[in-house]
Amino acid sequence: MTVLNTQISCFDTTWNPAVGCSKISEGCDNCYAEAIARRFFGGFEVRLHPERLTETRKFKPLTGPDGFRVPRRVFVNSMGDLWHQEIPDRFIDDVFGAIARHPHTVFVCLTKRAGRMLAYGRRRWKAGVPENIWLGVTAENDAVHGRIDALRRLKAAAGPFTAYVNAEPLLGPISRHDYTDIDWVGVGGEAGARARPCAPDWVRRVIASAHDAGAAVWFKSWGRWENNPNWARARGRTKKARKQDLIARGLELLPEEHGGATLDGALVQELPPGFARLRDRLRRAG
Ligand code: SF4
Repeated sequence: MTVLNTQISCFDTTWNPAVGCSKISEGCDNCYAEAIARRFFGGFEVRLHPERLTETRKFKPLTGPDGFRVPRRVFVNSMGDLWHQEIPDRFIDDVFGAIARHPHTVFVCLTKRAGRMLAYGRRRWKAGVPENIWLGVTAENDAVHGRIDALRRLKAAAGPFTAYVNAEPLLGPISRHDYTDIDWVGVGGEAGARARPCAPDWVRRVIASAHDAGAAVWFKSWGRWENNPNWARARGRTKKARKQDLIARGLELLPEEHGGATLDGALVQELPPGFARLRDRLRRAG
């Protein structure tokens, strides 16, 4: 099985029972999954990997600093979109069947096809969404704010679950996102050779709106150093020297993230209450 480092601080690992996708909105323009798939796997067509449904090793709990077990956070289908139109419902059923065998692991299912997730969820989760399944939508700008409404509608139909909005890659100032009833908001700039700019005030505004609505926030990274507001203060002739200068002066606390992940002197890495609930359940299970 192909194992790709998530390179995403809020997840511990990725799991790709299906790969491949097609572009649907502006956030897809520089899709990293497509770039990786074309370079290493010869194409980005949707392919199902039923053999990955029996994976178990990568879902084992982690050990926290206190020696107790901590649930792993798994990003499902980082190399595609689980609700892509070419993935049949019966295969999605199989994915959730596999997830059901790991009740102490968090599976984060993120989509840009919010309408299909809503329709699927209304049919399949009449008795509620299991606590370890976190459902989310990517909403990279104002134009796709309706995906967040679809997520909320699913919550209203299926009952409570951890709802996640990923405002990444953040492509502009946000004024139409409503984070009411959303539990977790991720935000970050775009990474990669063709990454688009992300202004610090755009990030600050998402964080403030999310906090106002009571959501936990995880700021992933600036995406590229040019987005990092401390970059203009960095000293040195080369990019490497400037980066090391920021680290040495304590201006960048997480330099291994793309472009760093320090905002106004701190990291913003909060988890929603659903994580603590699952962690406590895991500890009670012994
Ligand atoms: S939905 Fe995600 S995986 Fe699919 S093309 Fe867009 S960015 Fe890439």
